[in-house]
Amino acid sequence: MDLIRFDDVYKDYNETPFLCPITSLNMNGSYPFVVNWECGCVFSEKALQELKPETCHGCGGNIDKANIIQLNPEGELLKEYEAKVAEELLAKKAKKSAAKADIVEGPSVNPEIEKGNIFLQ
Ligand SMILES: [Zn+2]
Repeated sequence: MDLIRFDDVYKDYNETPFLCPITSLNMNGSYPFVVNWECGCVFSEKALQELKPETCHGCGGNIDKANIIQLNPEGELLKEYEAKVAEELLAKKAKKSAAKADIVEGPSVNPEIEKGNIFLQ
């Protein structure tokens, strides 16, 4: 069985139509698809609802409902995800500042420097 990884699907999204490996549903926007965040396998939400798998459809690995993320979420679900991400970022930051009190920011580039508003002294 060919495994289609989320990475490949993402890159070739416009050229390679993706079919759910379980239900053969087409990923054309008509059906919700989900990704198993733990391994990157993608399948239709329908497959998940109908089969209620104990292992991942794609790779036979672990599957945890908490790690099933819907692709292209809209409305309430999108807001839910955004809140979750913000929460995780805060948690990471808290962890970081607890470990090294003098480091405030991660490795991200200061946007002011990118805009050219800060001159090196
Ligand atoms: Zn998998």
